[in-house]
Amino acid sequence: MLSVKDAAEAIDPSVPTDRFADLFVGVSPGTPQAAERLAAGLHTLEMVRTEELRTTGSAAARAEQLALTLHRPDLQMRARLIRADVLRRDGDAAESGRIAQQVNAWATEQGDAYLIARSHLLLAGFFRHVGDLADALTHAVQAVAHTEPDVPARLRARHLQVLAMMLHENGSPEESQRRAEQAHDIAAAAGDHEMVLQILNNMAYSAYENGEEERVQELLAELQAVSARHGLTLGAHILDTVARIELSRGNYAEAEAALHPVLTGDAEYLISEGMMLATALLTAAEAQRLRGDFPAAQATLDRAALLCDARGVVAGRAHVRHAQAQLYAATGRYREAYEEFERFYAAMQSLLSAQREARARAMQAMFENEEARRDSARFRELAERDPLTGLYNRRYIDERLAILIEHAIRAGTPISAALVDLDHFKRVNDTLSHATGDAVLIQIAGLLADAAAGSAVAGRLGGEEFVLVFPDIGAEEAHRRCEQLREAIAAHDWQPITGRMTVTASLGLTTAANGQTSPSALLAAADRNLYAAKRTGRNRVMADPVTP
Ligand code: GH3
Ligand code: MG
Ligand code: MG
Repeated sequence: MLSVKDAAEAIDPSVPTDRFADLFVGVSPGTPQAAERLAAGLHTLEMVRTEELRTTGSAAARAEQLALTLHRPDLQMRARLIRADVLRRDGDAAESGRIAQQVNAWATEQGDAYLIARSHLLLAGFFRHVGDLADALTHAVQAVAHTEPDVPARLRARHLQVLAMMLHENGSPEESQRRAEQAHDIAAAAGDHEMVLQILNNMAYSAYENGEEERVQELLAELQAVSARHGLTLGAHILDTVARIELSRGNYAEAEAALHPVLTGDAEYLISEGMMLATALLTAAEAQRLRGDFPAAQATLDRAALLCDARGVVAGRAHVRHAQAQLYAATGRYREAYEEFERFYAAMQSLLSAQREARARAMQAMFENEEARRDSARFRELAERDPLTGLYNRRYIDERLAILIEHAIRAGTPISAALVDLDHFKRVNDTLSHATGDAVLIQIAGLLADAAAGSAVAGRLGGEEFVLVFPDIGAEEAHRRCEQLREAIAAHDWQPITGRMTVTASLGLTTAANGQTSPSALLAAADRNLYAAKRTGRNRVMADPVTP
């Protein structure tokens, strides 16, 4: 009995599983342009052909570490997605799905379209893997919807191709074909022939499953032509498509011949994803069995079993058992065929329950992520708002004002601010009630929010004192808007709340014409003007004194 490690070496000791080990050598947080080099390396990893993705795992893990020390969460998330992709291909679907969910939540919160699209693509792969085709399609649609035009052609094509695949598997052949053709055209226009081959392969397989014989012929011919013209070797899954089609036509020898490069164990093929290789070997074994070469079929199945054990390809191992049962039956060993079939059945059952479990775990993780995201957004919202009126509170205004002033200084643009204080508000409380006072404050908040339409910000500083900040608005326009607000408050129908008692406000407005001010200086100037408004009779707007 071979150990897993021996089995891996028995397949091929020289399988290059870490082809990108050197990608980040010499890059550390201190290196000049470390972040740029990290981003460029991530781009390289993202562009790797899907069938060879599993060779990128350790480079992605290094990139993730590097991004962490560089305080670049965006790059860290990109690296995590690559790692998650590898995890699924290496058999850890649940962890892969969990990471994709987390990155998706982060990207959604940040509004990072690129990472939103990439994480949806991974989620599509995850749900397909666990057999949930409807969710897989939903995520594929989202991936394409969030893919912006500046995304590299290969990735744009890949996202469309995955959508085409999900549409096909959900029984929408025309829609699928339309997306596949779009993907094809994007890749072809970009001169990405390797990608064109992948797309043609999928189109051919879909056409084959749809029973479109002629189209299969056309697509295979184009596939051969593209690979010949550009000197590209066909990947294991493409050879498998060709062989499957030959098999279905009863051309067993041709099917086996198509898979010759995989059968001879060319290292180029051994880096392929485990399931893909196992699938190709199973097709070859089937061709050999149907051709009557039982010893060859047995040898191929043995190789497939070793490969699956070494790489933890559980589903592949179950399918090998099924093929083994068929081979026993073909050679008259019915008892062994029956026993092997029992093992196949048990393996499939435990695989299905593992998939269900993985799905439940990923769903749970998704739910928790989503809840955490909503909680943090709600918490932040609460911390920024005044509970009575829903306007921004003093803390938020202080922070926001500092930022707005910084912008104004840098751009040399004006910024205005007005303090709004209700007139004789104590009377409302004293003669009516505190609750009536509260109702007035709530109404005032509504009028202030209206006045803050556009880029202006309204807040409640405390008591019956409010503030309006007008970024990028000069003295004249600000005065006009303050006057409008004063007017709106005085003219408001207060009767239902206060009866015959009127409600008015005084406003102190100030402007820093070229942004040169500070939050405290701006608010102090507004407060001086407010005091002047009160002193000269209330229910008025007092702006900065005009200096001759
Ligand atoms: P002035 O025109 O000089 O501004 O007179 P005023 O009465 O509005 O000013 P003063 O500062 O003397 O009184 C403010 C009053 O606002 C005191 C308090 O009763 C009332 N007030 C402060 N916060 C609240 C609140 O949250 N709800 C209610 N109902 N009243 C409040
Ligand atoms: Mg007052
Ligand atoms: Mg006051």
